[in-house]
Amino acid sequence: MADLDPDEFRKLGHAVVDWVAAYREGLPERPVRPDVAPGWVRAQLPTALPEEPGGLAALLGDVDRAVVPATTHWQHPGFHGFFPANASLHSLLGDILSGGLGVQGMLWSTSPAATEVEQVLLDGMAAALGLDPGFTFAGGGGGVIQDSASSASLVALLAALHRSSPGWRETGVDGTERVYVTAETHSSLAKAVRVAGLGARALRVVDPLPGSLAMSPSALAAAIEADITAGLRPVLVCPTVGTTGTGAVDPVREVAEVARPHGTWVHVDAAWAGVAALCPELRWVVDGAELADSFVTDAHKWLLTAFDASLLWVRDVRALPAALSITPEYLRNTASESGEVVDYRDWQVPLGRRFRALKLWAVLHGVGLSGLREHVRGHVALAAELAGWVRAEPGFALAAPPSLALVCLRADTGDPAADDAASRAVLEHVNASGAALLTHTLVDGRYTIRVAIGSVATERAHVVDLWERLRGARALVRQP
Ligand SMILES: *Cc1c(COP(=O)(O)O)cnc(C)c1O
Repeated sequence: MADLDPDEFRKLGHAVVDWVAAYREGLPERPVRPDVAPGWVRAQLPTALPEEPGGLAALLGDVDRAVVPATTHWQHPGFHGFFPANASLHSLLGDILSGGLGVQGMLWSTSPAATEVEQVLLDGMAAALGLDPGFTFAGGGGGVIQDSASSASLVALLAALHRSSPGWRETGVDGTERVYVTAETHSSLAKAVRVAGLGARALRVVDPLPGSLAMSPSALAAAIEADITAGLRPVLVCPTVGTTGTGAVDPVREVAEVARPHGTWVHVDAAWAGVAALCPELRWVVDGAELADSFVTDAHKWLLTAFDASLLWVRDVRALPAALSITPEYLRNTASESGEVVDYRDWQVPLGRRFRALKLWAVLHGVGLSGLREHVRGHVALAAELAGWVRAEPGFALAAPPSLALVCLRADTGDPAADDAASRAVLEHVNASGAALLTHTLVDGRYTIRVAIGSVATERAHVVDLWERLRGARALVRQP
């Protein structure tokens, strides 16, 4: 037998778990970012693959020697870059269970539990987030776990194309399709438009409300009306709740009110921010989503669940299968034909699918909804505190209004022409310390430092330490 004997697995499995536990314990002592040149990792590894087995000890040796020193430690408490990619140890336990079962959940009949656990979880999460009951299976819609928000937005677009033109499955796109976004919309929408074969000409970038980064509903209305007059089809609009750059929030309700009379599909991208709706005081993040056709939020960013687990809900349970289902003979089965089951292969691009629900389920069993609320709330409070310090500090300014757990700031030198260089130097100085990792964006063309609070291990002391480092770097930059 090529595989491990279960007794041997037990032994080696313990060793791997011990390795992960020690790695996580030791994270605070490591620099967040590796210091390696391109090609360093390849140079550490033999070019020939092992002809003979070397065993786990050899593998772990290579991981210690060549992998860890070249790893960006996303689970480090000082990781404040991009958005968090929480991989809680709770969720790893669920991932082991999922791998252990080793099922393909493409059809209900290829493993009923993989489908039905996901359905129950997504219905439950919809309720916990305060989403409209119309998004649940009980309410005529339904949820699905995608590998990423990018995939979720792609399948939403495919469903929208089908709804806009029932002939689409036969004839494909005809060049009249239009998709509405803002300059702040995540690039995955532009990619979905490209993958769907629409071409960049289909993308309409709607102006923001004056003095903000949020989509202007009246500019959207004008764009849709002009397009209809020109014989074009408004297929989909994507309002974002919590843009990737600054956490800006598009007015979902007003956008939906503009779009719906035209039959335009409303897809809410709340990839990072949507999970905040677990907290009643933050439930405004799903405001207006009851008017949308689909809503996506990532459990794999802020919600303690290891990548990949992007939660997508659609209001019409038939929308995705209508667009995506193709049934060759070898997938035919009586359960599918009964119409009584969900076949999740029809809700996604690939055929095969992992039992992803187990890792979110493990998180829910591990910390409960109450623990998730505490996790989110704690980071939002820390961000508010940090924003307060920034406001009170003469050498810094907020570059955008703080949004949930994201604070965007820049150096304020008194000379706008010098701010960009100073901000960049501050960021580079903090990152070079190894104690924290920050990333940047542009706001109104100006260099902006993003502090995304939300790593699993981040506590108040880490944010206090970061602030001291920012101030220290700022003081150095001030000197000629
Ligand atoms: C991160 C992010 C995405 C992409 O998420 P993936 O799950 O990595 O595809 C999309 N939209 C927004 C607003 C995001 O912040």
